[in-house]
Amino acid sequence: TLTLFEKIINKEIPADIIYEDEISIVIKDISPQAPTHLLIIPKKVIPKLSDASKEDKDILGHLMLLAGRIAEELGLDETFRLVVNNGAAAGQSVFHLHLHLLSGRPLNWPPG
Ligand code: AMP
Repeated sequence: TLTLFEKIINKEIPADIIYEDEISIVIKDISPQAPTHLLIIPKKVIPKLSDASKEDKDILGHLMLLAGRIAEELGLDETFRLVVNNGAAAGQSVFHLHLHLLSGRPLNWPPG
C-alpha cells in the first residue's frame, strides 16, 4: 500500500505543489505550524532518515540544497528551520522521509 506522500507524488491525491523535479517534490503542509511550512519530500520511498543508506546520499544532499534554494526564492531572509521527525515517538506520522521547512515566526530553542 502506498504512503500518503507516494499518492501525492503520483497525483492520486491533490496537494499544493510548489516545486517538483525528478528527485523530489515540495508541498505546503496541510496543517501549517508557521506562516511558511513546506514539506520537502524525496520521490524515492525511504520510510525514515534512519533507514537511509550510503546510496541515498545524493538524494539527501539534494533535499538539503533545495531547502536553501527555496528559502532564498521565497525571500525568507535566511531565517528558517529544517526539521526531520524520525520515528513515531519523535512526532513522525507519515513514514515517507520528509524535511519540514518552517519560517515566518520566532522559532524558539529548544524545540518541543
Ligand atoms: P510528520 O509528522 O513529521 O510525519 O509530518 C507529516 C506532515 O504531513 C504533518 O505536518 C502533516 O500536517 C502533513 N500532512 C498530512 N497530510 C497532508 C496532506 N494531505 N497534504 C499536505 N501535508 C499533509
